[in-house]
Amino acid sequence: AVVARGVEKSFGHLPVLRGIDLTVEYGNVCCILGPSGSGKSTFLRCMNHLERIEKGLLQVGGETVGYREHHGKLYEMKKSEVARQRADIGMVFQGFNLFPHMTVLENIIEAPMHVKKVRKAQATSDAMNLLAKVGLTAKANAYPRTLSGGQQQRVAIARALAMKPKLMLFDEPTSALDPELVGEVLSVMRSLASEGMTMIVVTHELGFAREVSDKVVFMDNGIVVEQGSPHEFFNNTQNERAKAFLGKVL
Ligand code: ATP
Ligand code: MG
Repeated sequence: AVVARGVEKSFGHLPVLRGIDLTVEYGNVCCILGPSGSGKSTFLRCMNHLERIEKGLLQVGGETVGYREHHGKLYEMKKSEVARQRADIGMVFQGFNLFPHMTVLENIIEAPMHVKKVRKAQATSDAMNLLAKVGLTAKANAYPRTLSGGQQQRVAIARALAMKPKLMLFDEPTSALDPELVGEVLSVMRSLASEGMTMIVVTHELGFAREVSDKVVFMDNGIVVEQGSPHEFFNNTQNERAKAFLGKVL
């Protein structure tokens, strides 16, 4: 499982995460909703140890993120250990972040070859399978700038999957897309979910959250103010802040 327990994080004097508790079972999808500035992106970045937490604990598959235990005390990991851990956690952002000077195929095989030392032939055949999965076989040799935003985001997903991650983190993956391109990205994410990928998705796509997630989490001001099944959340939330949020977005 993926576990957060009492996670705290500040930027200077500004507390941004004020004790996050969350468990996502292996193979489940958790959608995180919440207003701007509530700490959603910061939480995802902490999951990957891109930000260091000040208190609490994050675990992925039984391993503590960024820290190693020794005689009951936690020590920060070496860079190489953090890199090894990060290789198991795929992340897809709002912007597409593909390497502009590389083709689609080169973008996908880069990390498996250089981080995991997979041979080029193997990495290429894996990449072609992933491109088929995201419906972009024909674009293998294209450069990112020649693709639509939705296509670029599907390549970004394929690139993350090429590392065979245990967990996929998505930070508003569709919010930079033109409305007509949102569906193709959500449908790739939907099929990933149905294959049993463990996913944490920050999104404003309430339809996706309702249909695909096993758990919906509502964050406000650095804490989880409500969590439950999509049914509980969308039909029965008692929380005033969550109600106000749903009222605004729906
Ligand atoms: P949005 O929905 O707008 O993406 P969010 O829920 O993802 O919002 P965060 O990006 O996590 O929110 O930001 C939470 C708070 O932390 C905000 O007040 C933000 O200004 C602050 N913050 C985020 N990153 C930094 C940083 N690197 N340095 C200082 N403050 C930061
Ligand atoms: Mg954000």
